[in-house]
Amino acid sequence: MLVRLVIGLVITVAAVAVAGRRALQVYRLVESGQPDDARRDGLGARVRTQFVEVFGQRKLLKWSVPGLAHFFTFWAFVILATVYLEAYGALFDHDFHIPWVGRWPVLGFLQDTIAVLCLLSLVVFAVIRIRNAPDRKARASRFYGSHTGPAWLILFMIFNVLWTLFFFRAASSALGVFPYKSGAWASIGLGHLFDGVSQGTLEVIESVGLLLHIGVMLVFLVIVAYSKHLHIFTAPINVSAKRMPKALGPLLPMMSDGKKIDFEDPDEDAIFGRGKIEDFTWKGMLDFATCTECGRCQSQCPAWNTGKPLSPKLVIMDLRDHLFAKAPYIIGGKDLPEVESVDFDVLEAATNGHGHGVPESGFGRVLGSGPQQAARPLVGTAEQHGVIDPDVLWSCTSCGACVEQCPVDIEHVDHIIDMRRHQVMIESEFPSELGVLFKNLENKGNPWGQNAKDRLEWTKGLDFEVPVFDGELSADTEYLFWVGCAGAFDDNQKKTIRATAELLHRAGVGYTVLGPEESCTGDPARRSGNEFLFQMLAMQNVEVLNAVFEGREPGTRKIVTTCPHCLNTLGREYPQLDGHYEVVHHTQLLNKLVREGKLVPVAEPAADKGAPVTYHDPCYLGRHNEVYAEPRELVAAAGATLTEMPRHADRSMCCGAGGARMWMEERIGQRVNVTRTTEALDTLSGVGGADGAAAGGTIAVGCPFCKTMLSDGLTEKQSGGGYEGVQIQDVSQMLLAAVKRGDGSADGAGTTGEKSPVGEDANT
Ligand code: SF4
Ligand code: SF4
Repeated sequence: MLVRLVIGLVITVAAVAVAGRRALQVYRLVESGQPDDARRDGLGARVRTQFVEVFGQRKLLKWSVPGLAHFFTFWAFVILATVYLEAYGALFDHDFHIPWVGRWPVLGFLQDTIAVLCLLSLVVFAVIRIRNAPDRKARASRFYGSHTGPAWLILFMIFNVLWTLFFFRAASSALGVFPYKSGAWASIGLGHLFDGVSQGTLEVIESVGLLLHIGVMLVFLVIVAYSKHLHIFTAPINVSAKRMPKALGPLLPMMSDGKKIDFEDPDEDAIFGRGKIEDFTWKGMLDFATCTECGRCQSQCPAWNTGKPLSPKLVIMDLRDHLFAKAPYIIGGKDLPEVESVDFDVLEAATNGHGHGVPESGFGRVLGSGPQQAARPLVGTAEQHGVIDPDVLWSCTSCGACVEQCPVDIEHVDHIIDMRRHQVMIESEFPSELGVLFKNLENKGNPWGQNAKDRLEWTKGLDFEVPVFDGELSADTEYLFWVGCAGAFDDNQKKTIRATAELLHRAGVGYTVLGPEESCTGDPARRSGNEFLFQMLAMQNVEVLNAVFEGREPGTRKIVTTCPHCLNTLGREYPQLDGHYEVVHHTQLLNKLVREGKLVPVAEPAADKGAPVTYHDPCYLGRHNEVYAEPRELVAAAGATLTEMPRHADRSMCCGAGGARMWMEERIGQRVNVTRTTEALDTLSGVGGADGAAAGGTIAVGCPFCKTMLSDGLTEKQSGGGYEGVQIQDVSQMLLAAVKRGDGSADGAGTTGEKSPVGEDANT
């Protein structure tokens, strides 16, 4: 007894000291980040999140098979903590049991059952890893770029924990010192394997089993502390400290030292964006330390899936490696070497041998943790030894698929935009096309550089009057109709605006438009990192909107828009500048009007045999603002039967235009819009028969930028032959056609006289 007690305690103290040293280092490193006090707000919601996401494993369970396996493994960690309590108790007292519940068969049953389920989960994990081996599947594997060797080591260590658990418990049972007489079915059953073994031998076996079980756990503890499995400890904190309700939708204002930057009078030492790893907040640093390398984000990323160098997982891993390499200089008081004095060839040599590098993309991860890693600039080309390559940084469409999927709530989009902010505002380093965008926004208030006086061109030819704001909002004006720059200047989007205006007119909704008073909300400026320009445009708009709604109570300051980017910026970002309005997407308002019977769509007589329809979720309507049902209900109301694409709703694939990518050239890999269009066409083909082109069909959209991107994609596909019968329409256009069928104006006798012939939209 004494020998095993001494051995048990000595190895425990040694392992806890080694792991504790690492825990302290990680704590001090994370604490060195910039303050972010907002992460302590809303304690109740944060506790709820802990229950739902950590104990309930909500996000992991979105992927049913690996999710369930992780669910069992997580709960094994929780429940089997009681076995370790028993094991440490047994070091002191052979007959130890946990007070009150320690002989309860239910606890024994739970312990054995979760251990068996965890064993089965290990098999599932092993199969998943073999089937998705990066060596075979290369970039198509979500584990590509992850540390696969250490991941196998962790699975092996969990296996060791489990077999030693059963070994120790079976020996205890055979020895007659096991706390459970029933319930612990597996341990008691295995105990019979020792039948006939002498008492003395059993005592030795039980002691060996006990020390093995404790020893394995301690080795595991040290491995976890020094590996990516650190997430076991950091993930619950990271999840509770996440941006509520999630890190999508509005971007955060630019903060320095925990305070919003006042652009009119910034502090002298204000930090603009993130120009070095120390500029990230403690939550950012905790994000980097928490990545599990599961690759769920990577598997959904439109940039990665079209051959770009950007993988959200690799961004986080690169930032983590750099942060940890810099730790001795950030918290250890060492002087960082000058970049010129560092021999970067060491890093390049480390990258060449594949490892978890990304060789065939040409944007290999740079391994290593010495001064070479620490001295790298945060953003820079391969020649500059940058941690994040500019092509990585500018490939992001801010679609949010990574944030949506990440099981530990890492906030990729915020980090990417923060790095862009520094590049644009301090370094003046950005793709040249953005220079044109910035100039047009600054001088003309729209990305195309059009004249404000032309903002009402879309009203020409309508046979009803479009009310234009004349300085006073009449009592019967319920909505301000925010047309948006695309609606005002893009011919394709003008059709959406005209259809929506006509539907509002037919439903008797009181609305008005701003006309020349409108200007860009600033979304493309903000997503491309030009926060200064965003602030300028946003403040101007807030001033105009506050004047428009002057005297109106909250709840009556309503805006409707057809653009999800405008929806997001007006409704969720302008409150940061004291602009508070109730903003809805046109599909939400139109859906309400249909439900209220103010619009009565009528299906085509042979609707059930009609051309197939699929719907593309815009990222800023879906993932960023969680509007999924209304556009779908409108498609159904228009009489069409919707067929979903493989990637839809919260897993929808981006069209490629977000994050200001609409205004940048796409020079690397396949085009995102063509990839998405191909998926839509394949879906239509699947419904319509072998030849989608012959069957025709509609790709329904709810965003002007998606409409442009998919129309361009369709044009490209059509140039290769086929698909002539396919059209791309905004949901409002489909609804208007159905409403017109109801009043007999469908053949052009309607108010706008605008019925899109098949394919028309696709060719504008
Ligand atoms: S926001 Fe979209 S494009 Fe950007 S890294 Fe995440 S998944 Fe990739
Ligand atoms: S989904 Fe989250 S945890 Fe998984 S690899 Fe991506 S960033 Fe890391």
